[in-house]
Amino acid sequence: MSGQRILEVSDLKKHFPIRGGLMGGTVGNVYAVDGVSFHINKGETLSLVGESGCGKSTVGKSVLRLFPLTSGQVVLNNQRIDDMPAASLRPIRKQIQVVFQDPFSSLNPRMRVRDILAEPIKNFGLAKTRADIDERIGQLMDKVRLPRDAVNRWPHEFSGGQRQRICIARALAAEPDVIVCDEAVSALDVSVKAQIVNLLQDLQEELGLAMLFISHDLAIVEHMTHRVAVMYLGKIVELADRKQLFGQPRHPYTEALLSAVPVPVPGAVRERVVLTGDVPSPIRPPPGCRFHTRCPYAFDRCRKDEPVLRDVGEGHFSACHLNDGAVADNPLLNKLPPTAFRTEAA
Ligand code: SF4
Repeated sequence: MSGQRILEVSDLKKHFPIRGGLMGGTVGNVYAVDGVSFHINKGETLSLVGESGCGKSTVGKSVLRLFPLTSGQVVLNNQRIDDMPAASLRPIRKQIQVVFQDPFSSLNPRMRVRDILAEPIKNFGLAKTRADIDERIGQLMDKVRLPRDAVNRWPHEFSGGQRQRICIARALAAEPDVIVCDEAVSALDVSVKAQIVNLLQDLQEELGLAMLFISHDLAIVEHMTHRVAVMYLGKIVELADRKQLFGQPRHPYTEALLSAVPVPVPGAVRERVVLTGDVPSPIRPPPGCRFHTRCPYAFDRCRKDEPVLRDVGEGHFSACHLNDGAVADNPLLNKLPPTAFRTEAA
């Protein structure tokens, strides 16, 4: 994996105003994304994980510039795109493409696969003659492992997994540097999920793509990512290399999420950390640590001071006051790591 930085996001914020009152003015904000920073290198997958409503899809849509940002910086291939007017974004759309969750609504039912794939090729001027366009479409079908003659069929003639392959082919048609996969396998059956994840991994290796993989499914993420960023209520609370994050989490929220991931060993279970309390509203995030209302380790300081995301060793970032104390006092590090199993009988 190359160290060439393709995408860099700094202090990204996206607040959605709430309109109300007699005059329809702004009466508050939904703090969907509230200061998120990360980068992705060429050929690398960064997974953004967290419960539904944590802001991870809003990060993806912000990076794609599907709406204006509240503040922050997004740099794609050394070019700032956060402040670019919509009219100038066309060449940027070629560099960054998306695969959405629902392969049924993502494809125009009135277009044959040939026309769906020809559209980006023509829009970005990647082939001129009919023969060149047809050849490129054939190559895309090969890449996503669908038969070439299927280009004459309509979307409804394909299964969910096959439709997602067509969505991936359409994203690849633009020859992008980055692909955002927004819950791209969540709607698929388990066996199909694995096939699509394997396909994405193969394509990434072959083409050197950078990938932002947005998912709530840590079991899938564990198999295919290089690094992981965990989001809670609009912020990244932990970011680390896959092995470090799954092997020794340094944030209680990550620990709780991991404890719910099934263990692929018969008869073995992870020690489950059950979170109590509701997820607070992103309209009124709690003061101090946003996770304090559900954290089993919360103490006084957590209710007042907001922890900063900082390097706790070897590029492992965590936003938790427990990392400030003596290592010996840290209940997270004193526990067995979640990868250590105990059997049902134990
Ligand atoms: Fe829990 Fe406090 Fe750490 Fe927040 S800062 S995760 S409340 S221990």
